[in-house]
This record gives sequence, C-alpha cells and structure tokens, in this order.
Amino acid sequence: VKKNPAEPEFHQAVKEVLESLRVVVEANEEKFRKDALLERLVEPERQIKFRVPWVDDKGQVQVNTGYRVQFNSAIGPYKGGLRLHPSVNLGIIKFLGFEQIFKNSLTGLPIGGGKGGSDFDPKGKSDREVMAFCQSFMTELCKYIGADTDVPAGDIGTGAREIGYMFGQYKRIKGLYEGVLTGKGLSYGGSLARTEATGYGLLYLTQEILKINGKEISGMTAAVSGSGNVAIYAIQKAQELGVKVLTCSDSTGWVYDPEGIDVAALKEIKEVKRARLTEYKNYRPNSEYHEGRGVWTIKVDLALPCATQNELLLDDAKQLVANGVTAVCEGANMPTTLEATEYLQANGVIFAPGKAANAGGVATSALEMSQNSERLSWSFEEVDAKLQQIMINITHNIADAAERYGMPGNYVAGANIAGFEKVVNAMTAQGIV
Ligand code: NDP
Repeated sequence: VKKNPAEPEFHQAVKEVLESLRVVVEANEEKFRKDALLERLVEPERQIKFRVPWVDDKGQVQVNTGYRVQFNSAIGPYKGGLRLHPSVNLGIIKFLGFEQIFKNSLTGLPIGGGKGGSDFDPKGKSDREVMAFCQSFMTELCKYIGADTDVPAGDIGTGAREIGYMFGQYKRIKGLYEGVLTGKGLSYGGSLARTEATGYGLLYLTQEILKINGKEISGMTAAVSGSGNVAIYAIQKAQELGVKVLTCSDSTGWVYDPEGIDVAALKEIKEVKRARLTEYKNYRPNSEYHEGRGVWTIKVDLALPCATQNELLLDDAKQLVANGVTAVCEGANMPTTLEATEYLQANGVIFAPGKAANAGGVATSALEMSQNSERLSWSFEEVDAKLQQIMINITHNIADAAERYGMPGNYVAGANIAGFEKVVNAMTAQGIV
C-alpha cells in the first residue's frame, strides 16, 4: 500500500490472491523468500502511461491518458484487454492486469498477463471522434505491442468498432498485417465465436461446477447484471441450457422480466441502437424498469454478475443468501467485494471467481492468435467445442487444486493456486528476471 498508494482495486486483487496462496507459500517459504517470488509477481514487468490527444467534432482538442501494463510474460506474450471508460486509472489497469496473469494461466494456453486502456468515454461520441481517439491511442501504443510480444483485446467500451480502428492504424504505421489485436472483425482475421466466448464460457463453467456439486443447471432461474458483451451472450447461453434469466442492467438502471429476458431485444437496444435499457419496455410491456441498482434483490438460483468491478456488495450477498441462491459465478472481473465473497462462501453458496469463470474470452482470443499464425479460420463449432473443453478443464483444475491444499469447494483458492503454480514454475525456470 505504501509503495503503490491510491490504487485500492489493485490492493484488493493482490490481497485476495495472496491470502489464497498462503498455504502454497508456507510449504516452500525459504525458496519464496530467497527468490522474492511474490515481490516479483506483484511488480509489473513494465507500465506505460501516455498522452492521447485527439480532435472532437467541434474542432476542439481533447486530451486523454492511455495505459498499458505489461505485467508478466513468464508463460507467453502479454495478453489482456483495453478498457475505455472514464473511471480508468493506473490502479484499475494494474488490478485487471494482475488478475489476467492467473486467468491466462488457467486457460492452459501460452499467454502472459497484461491490460490497458484509457479514461476516454466512447459513449455519446460520433464514429469519427471514436476513430480519432483510437488512431491517436494506437499511434503511441504500437511502439510497445506486436503479435509475439503483447496482443491487446477488447474490454469495457472497446468492441469490434474500436478494435477495427486500432488495427487499421497499427497496420498503417508498422506496415505489418499480423495478429496484434484480438476481437477483430471476421473479414480481417477475427475468430468465429470470440464475440460469444466470455458469456458462453461462463455458462459452460457454471454448468460444470453445478454438476460437480450434484446439481443440474436446466430449470434454474438466474439474475444477470450488465447488458454488454459478456451479459448478452451469458443470457443467450443460459437460455439455451434451460435457465430462465430474469434480470439485466446498465449503468443507470435495471430490468426485471418475469417471462425471461428477450435477447433479441437486448441486442438491438445495446448493439445496434447503443441506447439505454429504458427502451426495453417498448419491446416487452410486461417487464419492469427501475432506476439505480437492484438485480440482486430478485429471488434466483444463480447470480451472474457481468457488468464491472465491485458491483455485488455485502448487503447484496446477504439478500441473495436469504433468497436461497445456489451459485454465484462471475462474468465480470472482480464484481464481488471481498466481504461479499467471504459471506457467500461461509453460507454454502458455490462461488466461481471471474479469473476462472470469465476466462473463456481470453482463451478464445488465444485461439484467434493461433488461427492468425496459421493463416486459417476455424468453424464456429470447432472454436465453440474447444472453448467448452477449456472451461470444463478449468473447472476441474480449480476444484482439484482446492482439494489438494485441503480447501475442497473453495474455488477462489483453487483458481489462484492453479493459476499461480504454472506461472511460478516458469518464472523460477527462467532465472532472476
Ligand atoms: P461492455 O462495455 O460490453 O458492457 C459493460 C456493461 O456493464 C454495460 O451494460 C455497462 O452499462 C455496465 N457497466 C459498466 N460500467 C459500469 C458501472 N461503473 N456501473 C454499472 N454498470 C456498469 O463490457 P463487457 O461486457 O466486455 O465487460 C463486462 C465485464 O466483463 C468487465 O468487468 C470486463 O472486464 C469483464 N470481461 C470481459 C471480457 C470480454 O471478453 N468482453 C472477458 C473477460 C472479462 P452501460 O451499457 O450503461 O455502459
């Protein structure tokens, strides 16, 4: 905290991981101390912060701050998304980059951890303004990334449009047509099923973790928060698996639809019109729209937070438990606070942390990198089948790791330990770097 003041999200992420790793570290204390393994793990290999000037539609120059934190490359090139949201600061990017190390390791694919973004807000901007920002952002970022060094992707506020503008600018400056970004459009190197991957993957893991606990997902009800990329495809896959999803939300309000969320309506509102959820009622007259937050007040079997960090608080956890929730599986990164997580676990709720549960997105990004290297495109079914297998493997790996260290059913500890072991082995083998 003294070394990195004013980075509360980063402290929160490190605290959660280090607490889970206590048992592993205690078993090899001398080695960890001598090699300063934990000290090296929490210090990014490199953090880049830069000016992003661009001209708005009125001819006025705007200035944003850009970030790329290249956290750990022990097991592969840095990989992680670019977040465009006014709340972005170095501490948030570091928390996301730190989590990404373990998540990427859990996928079983050769990718290191990184994250980036800017405090630019794409909301309400014209296409030209978004392009101007993306080109300026990439003009600086392109000096530090490449298909074999660092491969950014989308995240909050960075969808196919932004990735397209950034890819175009990278190619123009570097003269290289290479897989430097993932989440690309299908006509220029994107992978089928990448758009769906995080949401679908979340449901594959949820289904498997329920199965391990002797429960069947079909016939359950769910509350989902968010209405962006992760939320939309989580809802779609949940419905395919026989789950009735009753809620979704955005940054201003939330929807309760007793008949189950209409995914086609949601996609039109959010992906095509880029509008607010207040519009949902026009499509579904029997639904309710409420300002503020409230998705966790609804009685459900599954809670799937898919919006942003720290959106499921202790009081929400108490409400969910009182309503008899079976499982909470995180689609977003760190949506549940530490106290809420502990409360859920202490009350017998199955809890799957984001670094395992939402790893399907980055796993499919790594599959996009493979396809780019091969200069081939795989079918939707091929990618989806690989994704499903990866999520099933993750579920068993985290369950096994928790069991090995005497904490059966503690998937937070399991995910941190399983992700950590591979990275630390690679760091040790590569010497003091
Ligand atoms: P999107 O930008 O597509 O959607 C984010 C959703 O969350 C929107 O509905 C947005 O509301 C809402 N939201 C964002 N910030 C806030 C806030 N401060 N308060 C309340 N609601 C908010 O992002 P994604 O769906 O891609 O990402 C969602 C989460 O999943 C993030 O934590 C991200 O890091 C994580 N994630 C994403 C992956 C991916 O592949 N996309 C992969 C792994 C993790 P509004 O519509 O009003 O903006």
